[in-house]
Amino acid sequence: MFKVISLTEAKAIIRDQFGSLRLSAETTELKDASGRFLAAEIVSDEFIPAFDRSTVDGYAVISRDLRGCSDSIPSILLKAGESLMGEMPTHTLKPGECFYVPTGGALPAGADAMVMIEFVEDFGSGEFAFVKPVAPGANMIFQGEDLQPGSQILPRGKRLNPADIGTLASMGLTEIEVFKQPEVGIISTGDELVPAGIKLVPGKIRDVNTPMLSALLQETCAVSQTHEIVPDQRDILRKAIQKAFSTADILLISGGTSVGEHDNLPVLIEELGQILVHGIAIKPGKPTIIGKIDDKPVFGLPGNPVAAFFMFHALVKPLLFSLSNSNVALQTVRANLTRAVPSNHGREEMILVRREGDQATPVPSKSGLISTVSKANGYFLIPREKEGLAAGEQVNIIRL
Ligand code: AMP
Ligand code: MG
Repeated sequence: MFKVISLTEAKAIIRDQFGSLRLSAETTELKDASGRFLAAEIVSDEFIPAFDRSTVDGYAVISRDLRGCSDSIPSILLKAGESLMGEMPTHTLKPGECFYVPTGGALPAGADAMVMIEFVEDFGSGEFAFVKPVAPGANMIFQGEDLQPGSQILPRGKRLNPADIGTLASMGLTEIEVFKQPEVGIISTGDELVPAGIKLVPGKIRDVNTPMLSALLQETCAVSQTHEIVPDQRDILRKAIQKAFSTADILLISGGTSVGEHDNLPVLIEELGQILVHGIAIKPGKPTIIGKIDDKPVFGLPGNPVAAFFMFHALVKPLLFSLSNSNVALQTVRANLTRAVPSNHGREEMILVRREGDQATPVPSKSGLISTVSKANGYFLIPREKEGLAAGEQVNIIRL
């Protein structure tokens, strides 16, 4: 029978049992690495930028030369040359000199500031008038201001985004070490299920969970291995689990997790491995199983697609991230309820919402239809001991 525990306790058990599991690393081309997780921290081995660069079109100066200058008493400097893009100037700037530098060009040695061309007047014969003092370092970036040798650029476990790819490209990297993608098996079970593409006969329903879990895995950078629908027969399910685990790191089985006569999963997981959790005090999602078979995680997700979706977010996703040394950063936002929400089930409850600005409207999902999740763009949790929330109350919404 169920020994129902809280969602927080279930998460703690997952961390405790699987928290030290890590995927192995592989090398990938930088251009293909967005969305992947870094397997080793990235440390700079050079100065970026490699030389002092201007951020404006204008004149490199020695800031001291402009001290006290004004409209009535301009500083007059002699143009000593021009910086060309892609080349280092060989001239060293001396007091009384200025040097033209375009945006992104290298400053000559000796210069310590840039003045925008708009604020400089050409007096002819190579003489230029400056009417405003400039602070050292103005309108330029110093060598190594972005990165210095030895400075950490990205930590191990960082999920790479396009800006990270750009940063790594600026360091000259073409290949990097990332965690391998986890292979995750998906099995839907139930006599009533038929795959999409086959005509429904009365009494049957379409398998929602296989494609949905596959999409959720894709979103977390895991590789899904889908399998044929398994009927409510213990021997067939046993074989399907064994076959799936011959290639998968993790297995997600939906349906048949309860204690009904045709619910085979609890018995099979106990037979092939060990049940760690059976029953979570949350709505929806109560008949959830967490187990292990040959030290690999196996999840028995509720057949109800809304519950399966939610339990994936709450339990599976954080585990997938931790396999790559990463944390799920939940994006939460506060909003006010437009309607009261009752809740008196004696368990924690997930409420789907449609949030617009700082207003959140609950999306009823009583029937477990997945289209209700499509209508929502977030959810929040009502604690177990709370008997609902009033209209206008503020809630912490987790974005979907
Ligand atoms: P179960 O967890 O097997 O008791 O199923 C709970 C509810 O979810 C039942 O109404 C099932 O018909 C439904 N269900 C189970 N598996 C799926 C699936 N893969 N896709 C859509 N609905 C499902
Ligand atoms: Mg079933």
